[in-house]
Amino acid sequence: MLFGALEAGGTKMVCAIGNEKGEILERVSIPTETPEVTLPKLLAYFEGKGILALGIGCFGPIDLNESSDTYGYITTTPKLPWVNCDICGYFREHLQIPVGFDTDVNGSLLGEATWGCLQDVKNAMYITIGTGIGAGVMTEGKLLHGMLHPECGHMLMPVRSDDTYGGKCPYHGTCLEGLAAGPAIEARWGQKAETLYDRPEVWELEAHYLAVAVVNFIMTLSPQKIILGGGVMHKDGLMPMVRQKVKEQMAGYIRTKELEDLDSYLVLPSLDDNQGILGALKLGMDRYEKEKTVC
Ligand code: ADP
Ligand code: ZN
Repeated sequence: MLFGALEAGGTKMVCAIGNEKGEILERVSIPTETPEVTLPKLLAYFEGKGILALGIGCFGPIDLNESSDTYGYITTTPKLPWVNCDICGYFREHLQIPVGFDTDVNGSLLGEATWGCLQDVKNAMYITIGTGIGAGVMTEGKLLHGMLHPECGHMLMPVRSDDTYGGKCPYHGTCLEGLAAGPAIEARWGQKAETLYDRPEVWELEAHYLAVAVVNFIMTLSPQKIILGGGVMHKDGLMPMVRQKVKEQMAGYIRTKELEDLDSYLVLPSLDDNQGILGALKLGMDRYEKEKTVC
């Protein structure tokens, strides 16, 4: 059985064909321009491939409420040409197959939950620290949507007293993304994050903010495992620092076997940067099963 997978990002669209075993058989990457230019290119890729369904892990915010008139739309994104784009409907109409749809980070979480390091838990988070910060949440085996979908990257943060940077988020200034995403690091220190490896103070502060966020997620959502992914986490030595600070900030308040072993609790992604596209594949597979059952 063949399924299509689309990882829809602000700079590129990764398209792939895979099977129900999670094997990616082919893939291409297409630059993200406007919907008018990009969607037909994506459609041309998927047409004629014999796929039973398509799964889309998408940048947001997006509408995931199936009873809403704008279900399957990208809604209020800062990527302006894509505002109110009915990305899901476009493929449903032209390919005439079921289309699964969720956030990119819920997609990555689903990929890890299906074929990666989250297979043994039902409550987990996947947080990406890259151009933005986003988080996917799984509770009791289901991806959390709620009213919209979690937007944990925009949680408001206590600014550390020695940090004078005003924050990069156009909406909130010093939310988590405004303080700790790649562009915030670049704006605060005047250079791209990947060129700041010789400045320990950069990574000490970054680890501090990420640890504050992780502690808040532990306290609010009680995940059994947390993944930190995205470009910024490629910095060697950052993850051990975050773990140390999480331990300090938890201050021993909660005692569980998971928190006793932070090296296994707070981890990097396990699927060689394939978690996003594999998650999109699984979104397609799940939608296929769902619509088959309904018919
Ligand atoms: P995106 O979020 O756009 O999908 P990434 O996850 O690669 O892409 O994140 C890009 C951000 O991560 C940029 O701000 C960049 O400066 C930062 N970044 C990329 N690679 C590294 C690295 N090796 N170390 C630290 N920061 C990095
Ligand atoms: Zn914000």
